[in-house]
Amino acid sequence: MAGCKAQHPPAAYLAGLEVPAAGSEVTMEGVRYKMNAPKDVDPATIRFVEVDHDKCMACGECEYHCPTGVMQEVTEDGYRGVVDPVACVNCGQCLANCPFGAIHEEVSFVGELYEKLKDPDTVVVSMPAPAVRYALGECFGLPTGTYVGGQMHAALRRLGFNLVWDTEWTADVTIMEEGTELLERVKHGNMPLPQFTSCCPGWIKFAETFYPDLEKHLSTCKSPIAMIGPLAKTYGAQEAGVPAKKMYTVSIMPCIAKKFEGMRPEMNASGYRDIDATITTRELAWMIKKAGIDFTSLPSEEPDPALGMSTGAATIFCTSGGVMEAALRLAYEALSGGTLADPDIKVVRTHEGINTAEVPVPNFGTVKVAVASGLDNAAKLCEEVRAGKSPYHFIEVMTCPGGCVNGGGQPLEPGMLQSSLFKSTITKINRRFTRRSVA
Ligand code: SF4
Ligand code: SF4
Ligand code: SF4
Repeated sequence: MAGCKAQHPPAAYLAGLEVPAAGSEVTMEGVRYKMNAPKDVDPATIRFVEVDHDKCMACGECEYHCPTGVMQEVTEDGYRGVVDPVACVNCGQCLANCPFGAIHEEVSFVGELYEKLKDPDTVVVSMPAPAVRYALGECFGLPTGTYVGGQMHAALRRLGFNLVWDTEWTADVTIMEEGTELLERVKHGNMPLPQFTSCCPGWIKFAETFYPDLEKHLSTCKSPIAMIGPLAKTYGAQEAGVPAKKMYTVSIMPCIAKKFEGMRPEMNASGYRDIDATITTRELAWMIKKAGIDFTSLPSEEPDPALGMSTGAATIFCTSGGVMEAALRLAYEALSGGTLADPDIKVVRTHEGINTAEVPVPNFGTVKVAVASGLDNAAKLCEEVRAGKSPYHFIEVMTCPGGCVNGGGQPLEPGMLQSSLFKSTITKINRRFTRRSVA
């Protein structure tokens, strides 16, 4: 552990930092957060978003964008509220689309995270998602979709994270696992088809709540963050020479639903809590500003070894169709025994609606796939499966329109979120990986 700490000594700004008290409220990047880091509670009983009736103008936008119908009128004046936390998938689309900033987050680990960063006996580990690095720059005046992965790693070190690991590492693992599972289902029929993706916690809660009979169609793979949490406290702890019990793992996500996922009771495969805290892109941006870090002047830095490396398949997880595209690359090569001439399978990329494709695979036949952006579209595909009429082998579902780049925890830019971020981001992802050589 000493070696690990020596690499990243406590950041100087922490000495004078006033830590927000539990229960206090802090506005970060335009959204109000309650400092509330729940422990040992069933997250299905918690409201992660709620409406401030002093600010609500009863316009109904939140209800319109809510994919489950759980955001409803709760007063005669038309004020909205989350009527049942069990049916809320915590996607935050209500918050992202409220034109009056009337919806706030009820769970924030930022106060607790500061306590851990200040504690010299705790090894704080960062695990940022692919989509964070395409949105964080916006909070510092950079154009929408600018890739700032290297500056993000540098900022995490300057914030005092002792180990800068990266969830893109396990996005690659997810592809290997999910693609292999699909091959098993296709070749051996040991589990039913179609196989649904399982990396989006909003979708998983939706399926568990509204389509529990389709459970066997969900991929058995954990999401990337649910894989890197336990890997950090087992393999990673061993590689870094750090006792797992001293680690505090921080999931950094574009997503409010990932707070729910990190708190799920079964997330303890390492023998400890696999994910100790989850923060959003907005909260990370606020922490960087509060530390006085000049983000745009930071050098580009690599993540720490052991759980840091990744490929282009990992980063496209952040857009609708990305998981499908990466899994198809694997399935194509495994089923055909050949190599794809062009790894870009653009036909599955989508930012709205349902996109379907038939991919011819030599020595196999045709792989039929569907990509659903948004839960209303996912529901249509679920109804087909339930009726035994689904023609697909593999279905990707992302709760947020266009995928995680438009997640409920991303910087708010009303009027732009729905599609411009997606389009500019997919272009930049491709440019980034055209330039980059992967060892
Ligand atoms: S979108 Fe905002 S202002 Fe409009 S009803 Fe919902 S909470 Fe109220
Ligand atoms: S978080 Fe999502 S599911 Fe929950 S009320 Fe808001 S829009 Fe609806
Ligand atoms: S699409 Fe991404 S950001 Fe949206 S709920 Fe799913 S994982 Fe979270």
